[in-house]
Amino acid sequence: MHPDTRVVHIPVPVPDSTPLSVPLYQTSSFAFDDPDPLADGLNRPDGSYVYSRFANPTVRALEEAVAELEGGAAAIATGSGMGAVSLLLHSLLRAGDHVIAQHTLYGGTHAALRKLADRYDLTISFVTGHDPEEVRNAITPRTRILYLETIANPTGHSSDLPALAPIAREAGVVTIVDNTFATPLLCRPIDHGADVVLHSVTKFLGGHSDVTGGIAVFADDALYREVWGEAVEFGSVTDPFAAWLTLRGLQTLPLRIARHTDNVARVAGFLADHPAVERVLWTGAPGHPSHAVATSYVRGFAAPFCFDLAGGYEAGLTFQKAVRVIKLAPSLGGTQTLILHPASSSHRQLDADQLRAASIGPGTIRIAVGIEHPDDLIDDLRQALDGFPAR
Ligand SMILES: *Cc1c(COP(=O)(O)O)cnc(C)c1O
Repeated sequence: MHPDTRVVHIPVPVPDSTPLSVPLYQTSSFAFDDPDPLADGLNRPDGSYVYSRFANPTVRALEEAVAELEGGAAAIATGSGMGAVSLLLHSLLRAGDHVIAQHTLYGGTHAALRKLADRYDLTISFVTGHDPEEVRNAITPRTRILYLETIANPTGHSSDLPALAPIAREAGVVTIVDNTFATPLLCRPIDHGADVVLHSVTKFLGGHSDVTGGIAVFADDALYREVWGEAVEFGSVTDPFAAWLTLRGLQTLPLRIARHTDNVARVAGFLADHPAVERVLWTGAPGHPSHAVATSYVRGFAAPFCFDLAGGYEAGLTFQKAVRVIKLAPSLGGTQTLILHPASSSHRQLDADQLRAASIGPGTIRIAVGIEHPDDLIDDLRQALDGFPAR
């Protein structure tokens, strides 16, 4: 089945029929006539439903749907994207271990890794992800994880997963890929050698800015079972209503991604031609430093991207207030187009050097393009940029 069909046919059968909408099992516990299946369900992920921290039918429907979209064996849905990140790091790492990570990580992931490194004497090697030799040379006997992102925030950086994953596998290193920015429709990292794929479902998978959630998909059933036990103990679980909202959003993922992809290309093209825009950093453009690497295994670029205003910091400040249809807000992957001026918001505490290290300029704007009519987005951008200093 194509993903387009799979996401609208998510069966949760009841006797004699199947509801068209996945039922919301809003219950914390399940009652039994017989104690044996109760005991069994507490010991494994595929036993009876006993207690919703262990398993819940609505949550399971989401886990199975996303596992299938990603081509994985099984998945664990979590309360947030960071919940999935921290579940994986806490489950896989032991004191003194070594992690190899792409240098452009999601800010929250970077902070979590740093904190764990301090606490448990972990060492981290940051790599560009473009050079297989760099990863081969970084591997030590204590290397446990290679951590990558399909498309990174905010630079659109991509690692050469198909070249790096076999090197990690040969050394017994688990490759984790944060696929939030691509979604399984544009890239399935497991097909290219990843062991674990994670998402902030808060973004494209949920897709409507109404739910916070995460998910980790496992290529291998044994690793899934190991981490499931930890998820139960750490309480990484999501709640049935969040899973239900995500399932509702997931049904239109293929339609939304098609529109996002088309809109992003149009908006990036418009901005590249605008005199007030110094430069556009979109992975889909042939001039982007990761374009060749990314196009070898990612089918399209719907993700947020950055552009720099020629007018610098002042222009960035003004631009945030000048947009009308487009909203000033964090997050991405929802129906609405959102912008952020990192230098005055998410990265306000960084000095000029630190900003440069994070590839953020004083006039950098991040834009997450939604599914509105593209002409309305371009009209809004045109009026917002009116009168700005030219490059
Ligand atoms: C948002 C995001 C996260 C964290 O997800 P939350 O749902 O906010 O916890 C992790 N990785 C990437 C790439 C993200 O965009």
